[in-house]
Amino acid sequence: MRPDHQPACVAAVVFDFDGTLTRPGEIDFAGIRRELGCPVGTPILEYVHNLPGDRADPESVLDRYEMEAAERAEPNVGAEDLVLALVEHGLPLAILTRNMRRAVVRSLENFPRLGPEHFVAMIARDDDIRPKPDPEGIFRLASMLRVSVPSILCVGDYDFDVEIARRAGCLSAFLTNGQAMTTTHPDYTIDRLDEVLAIVVGDAWNH
Ligand SMILES: [Mg+2]
Repeated sequence: MRPDHQPACVAAVVFDFDGTLTRPGEIDFAGIRRELGCPVGTPILEYVHNLPGDRADPESVLDRYEMEAAERAEPNVGAEDLVLALVEHGLPLAILTRNMRRAVVRSLENFPRLGPEHFVAMIARDDDIRPKPDPEGIFRLASMLRVSVPSILCVGDYDFDVEIARRAGCLSAFLTNGQAMTTTHPDYTIDRLDEVLAIVVGDAWNH
């Protein structure tokens, strides 16, 4: 854990889903890009949104790949222990994902000890909220969880998870999953999910 600065207080944790609560690498992004003709470097959702004409076909491609990945999904290392420990500590938890809700719910069926009931709120692609890295999702979750925006810790494995935190004004923990990955200015960089507990509980004990 390499904190750039100490948080004031963590009152809620917002998790990314794919590659954060699930083991990384299940969604075949290269296959999606190939089928949609989406260039590398262009975010897929934004590409689909900007396509002319009916978006039903490209969205059905996304849905198919996501559901295939959901069938194979497994909990990430330490994900179930972490979520259960945070619930035990009384922290409200949420999922904020660019995936569709049905795929998240299906993935959670592969988690032996977790289900949607462990999360106070979930915002997915089907919700009428601008996707990450737009900060709208964090603002909405702050009011749903009844916490202040700066007291939210946003945990995720992609640049957008750090960018949304920066744009919203909350804390970020960037999860590398043990890979040599970097992003711009996260509050914390962590290799494994269990490090989140030290951030949150260590902080809670100080207040
Ligand atoms: Mg992710």
